[in-house]
Amino acid sequence: MKKIVIIGGGITGLSAAWKLAENGKEVIIIESSDSVGGLARSVKVDNYYFDIGPHSFFSEDKEVFNAVMNLFKGEEGEIPFSKRSVKMWFRGRYVDYPLSAKSVLLQMGLISPILSSLSFAKSYLSSLFVKPKDKETLTIEEWAIGNFGKYLFLNFFKPYTEQFWKIPTSELSHRVIPSSKKMDFAKTLKHLLISKYLEISKREPGKLSLVQRESLPSYYPKKGFGEIAKRISKIVTNKGGKILLNETVEEIKINNDKKFEIKTNKGFINCECVVSTIPINKLVPKILPKPSIEILDQSSKLQYLSLILVYLITKRKNVLNCQYCYYINKPYNRISEMNSFSNNTSPEDKNILSVEISCLPNSDLLSMKDSDLYDMCMASIEKDNIIGKEEIIDYKVLKVSNVYPIYRKDYEKSLNETNKFFSGISNFFSIGRQGQFYYGDIDQMIRIGFDKAKKINSDN
Ligand SMILES: Cc1cc2nc3c(=O)[nH]c(=O)nc-3n(C[C@H](O)[C@H](O)[C@H](O)COP(=O)(O)OP(=O)(O)OC[C@H]3O[C@@H](n4cnc5c(N)ncnc54)[C@H](O)[C@@H]3O)c2cc1C
Repeated sequence: MKKIVIIGGGITGLSAAWKLAENGKEVIIIESSDSVGGLARSVKVDNYYFDIGPHSFFSEDKEVFNAVMNLFKGEEGEIPFSKRSVKMWFRGRYVDYPLSAKSVLLQMGLISPILSSLSFAKSYLSSLFVKPKDKETLTIEEWAIGNFGKYLFLNFFKPYTEQFWKIPTSELSHRVIPSSKKMDFAKTLKHLLISKYLEISKREPGKLSLVQRESLPSYYPKKGFGEIAKRISKIVTNKGGKILLNETVEEIKINNDKKFEIKTNKGFINCECVVSTIPINKLVPKILPKPSIEILDQSSKLQYLSLILVYLITKRKNVLNCQYCYYINKPYNRISEMNSFSNNTSPEDKNILSVEISCLPNSDLLSMKDSDLYDMCMASIEKDNIIGKEEIIDYKVLKVSNVYPIYRKDYEKSLNETNKFFSGISNFFSIGRQGQFYYGDIDQMIRIGFDKAKKINSDN
């Protein structure tokens, strides 16, 4: 029987292990953190469950949906339906989401609709005479100006995109916007003002559009989103799989017989097959014999945004009166309110507000003291009268690296070169959000894990 090592115990790694272990394969998950779940984990501190940003489960993929729901069989109340409610803080007031083009334009004041329309008409007319730019190198800036005009670009697309990505729009690929779909103004705004728009241009393996996916019923486990990963991990171990926590993969040596020797901070593990779910730019330098300088260089260009989470413990419930809210021109991109997901994520009389700040991996924000990050967020939160410091009981800061794959304008070249290199190594697979540089949701990661396991099972 083949021994398979899965690097990373996030949802992708766990899902692959689930189906491999079910098929009787010898599976070992190596996870560097002290718990499973990766980005989909919940960190339990005292009686609080802190998620990595707001998560909920939804899927149009029947097999995946049923598999997750069956994790709670007989305890359906543990993963109740969770009504999606999202807002945007726009020009000093809350705007309900989803927006209509009309409501956005009204919020922009009287003069803006006229300027937007003129600017849109100008770019539409000029597009009739100019040859479209090559899609490979098209930036979000060129795309947005070309499709919506400079006025809307400067007022909407640029501020939010640059606040979130911390990269000029002239450096980001057009793939950060749904170029493959012809969308009207309202839909496009909606996608640009939320941080999840990348997946539209990379729809596989789901079939629905983002708009349709957002209308799917969503579910949230009472004791934090991490409950899903925990339950999958139980199945894996019940079926004989091993999960090694607090163990970090440092080297992956490919021997002459094409088998692998994995070196971790705790020892060595030999195996015949490797499924990696860790970031590509961290994976390639761990491989021995050393890949060429060209591959090392290309893979190092595939970078990920980090995320700082400032969790505010509040006495008050229903501060935002929605699950989460997006912000433009603020130090943070989004705030979510955990009592709107589940009252069980904190003691009965308390609530958690989770404030998200995205940043580049070399950002000074990552070395800022927790108290300074708290003060920075609170200064803006108090100014907008969201909640005052006197109502905050405590706070906690979590810094997470490798959160969002950054689609720079030329990332596809680096990704293709690196994938070519991976495909030359037999029985070696790099999958998932980090491993495929693919900005997808939980159900899509489960599908990827299941499919990879199916392929390995059928080949052996
Ligand atoms: C803020 C936010 C909100 C989201 N909201 C939703 C939502 O509402 N619904 C939804 O469906 N999806 C949502 N997602 C997406 C979802 O969380 C991810 O798609 C999914 O968790 C990715 O799983 P993964 O296993 O591919 O990657 P990861 O979760 O990143 O797992 C990789 C694992 O590898 C481990 N690792 C790294 N290096 C090593 C090493 N050297 N050795 C051993 N282990 C290592 C890491 O610790 C990690 O556990 C959200 C994501 C974010 C960031």
